Amino acid sequence: MVDDADAVPTELQSELAEILGPEGLITERSQRRTYESDGLTAYRAVPALVALPVSTEQVSGVMRACARHGVPLVPRGAGTGLSGGALPHPDGVLIVLSRMRRIVDVDVLNQRITVEPGVTNAAVSRAVAPHQLYYAPDPSSQIVCSIGGNVAENSGGAHCLKYGFTTHHVLGCELVLPDGQVVQVGAATLDPPGYDLRGVLVGSEGTLGVVTQVTLRLLRRPESVRTLVADFTDPASAGTAVSAIVAAGVVPAAVEMMDNLAIQACESDAAAGFDVNAGAALIVELDGPEAECDASFAEVVALCQESGATAIRIADQPDERARVWQGRKAAFAAMGRLAPDYLVQDGVIPRTRLGECLARIAELAADAELRVANVFHAGDGNLHPLVLFDSSRPGETERAEALSTAIAELCVSFGGSLSGEHGIGADKACSMPKMFGAEDLAIMDRVRAAFDPDGRCNPDKVLPTPRLCGERPGRYRPHPLETAGVIERW
Ligand SMILES: Cc1cc2nc3c(=O)[nH]c(=O)nc-3n(C[C@H](O)[C@H](O)[C@H](O)COP(=O)(O)OP(=O)(O)OC[C@H]3O[C@@H](n4cnc5c(N)ncnc54)[C@H](O)[C@@H]3O)c2cc1C
Repeated sequence: MVDDADAVPTELQSELAEILGPEGLITERSQRRTYESDGLTAYRAVPALVALPVSTEQVSGVMRACARHGVPLVPRGAGTGLSGGALPHPDGVLIVLSRMRRIVDVDVLNQRITVEPGVTNAAVSRAVAPHQLYYAPDPSSQIVCSIGGNVAENSGGAHCLKYGFTTHHVLGCELVLPDGQVVQVGAATLDPPGYDLRGVLVGSEGTLGVVTQVTLRLLRRPESVRTLVADFTDPASAGTAVSAIVAAGVVPAAVEMMDNLAIQACESDAAAGFDVNAGAALIVELDGPEAECDASFAEVVALCQESGATAIRIADQPDERARVWQGRKAAFAAMGRLAPDYLVQDGVIPRTRLGECLARIAELAADAELRVANVFHAGDGNLHPLVLFDSSRPGETERAEALSTAIAELCVSFGGSLSGEHGIGADKACSMPKMFGAEDLAIMDRVRAAFDPDGRCNPDKVLPTPRLCGERPGRYRPHPLETAGVIERW
């Protein structure tokens, strides 16, 4: 068998072995296969080599060597991404940052922390909890996903409605460019002069270089937190409640919605006390000074009731609140209780069009003869339709993929976006022209080329290419009618 490690020059393999030492380079095919996909398991490719650096110097050395040999590279954090962003290149080096997990500095007075990229999201808040501080962005994968991955994806979470996404909490990064140079992007101070390259880097999905250190903003823990679960007969009336809350000027920390299928899955997985007969449920959380929280909470209860809530449960004990969030955050994994396979979609729509959009998704699902569960950040209009299917049934995977793509493009047609937080990755690059014109894409391409002129850093991700999306005709294949002798080519 031809080993795909042969895809890279043997000199590169020797150079990387020298830079990384025996612990830091994986050449064995069976071990490289561990990294063949991220959370989007439908896409797989075995990397030619896997590098596991422990320092910026090693990352820089690996990238310099790859540049000398013209070899592509793909950064990877914890591999929980859902858009195929960390999908390896079969002829390239996968740079896995999970061994770089040092907390470099905690600056309590200035409410900042500097960490290496492999530190998990949850570990940041854990490290500063004794100082009554925390890190606000809270993806549901926070126990596992890395800060490097969060920066690359501009990750969000339930509490990003009030506190903003990763980009609002990253002050500066150390970045290793594809040619191995180490640069600083952003700064620990607010509003540094010059172009906002920090803003360009956050959300760039590993296409501009490898992030090796991140300085994050920390927040003080709120004085008071109030949480409720409101049941509704259908998602449309829950959507009305969301609009009413926002229109009243209340800014909740989080507003999450689950439809009936999602409630069933979460409840059977986490037994969080959700009513499995409810058509939809809203989780609303308020935080802040106690007096303000109490007043706004009473208003939210009234608004839910006026919008048709059939029941309201107040989770006022910390353990009860924790159970509600555990139930919600386990939603994706819980889908395994409803179907052997599922695809997670991630699109944004204007919040005011929630009911209309969910109804259209239900129609598309009926046409495809598949079920779709919905669990999402309702306050931001960030949908996560979960397309349920069974890959052992012929044709069902293809139908599920087509439905998932149709849902993402539906979000764009509603005036929304192809992605809210999971990124474009390998999955949705070919849908980018649905959202951006040729000129917009060309500008993005030029920004990318300014960091990576050779196009070796996470190639074939985010931006569509003719090769990737088949925009140019491929190899000639005869039309079936031609084969059957009905028509002829001349
Ligand atoms: C159960 C589940 C729940 C989830 N919930 C949420 C959620 O609520 N909100 C949300 O936003 N996402 C969510 N996600 C998606 C995922 O966890 C996030 O996108 C996360 O930020 C990915 O981090 P990671 O370390 O796993 O990155 P990876 O998957 O390893 O990589 C993701 C991207 O980042 C790039 N990258 C990784 N590290 C670096 C680095 N150091 N430098 C440069 N580029 C890098 C990779 O090339 C890739 O493009 C969820 C995923 C799962 C499986």
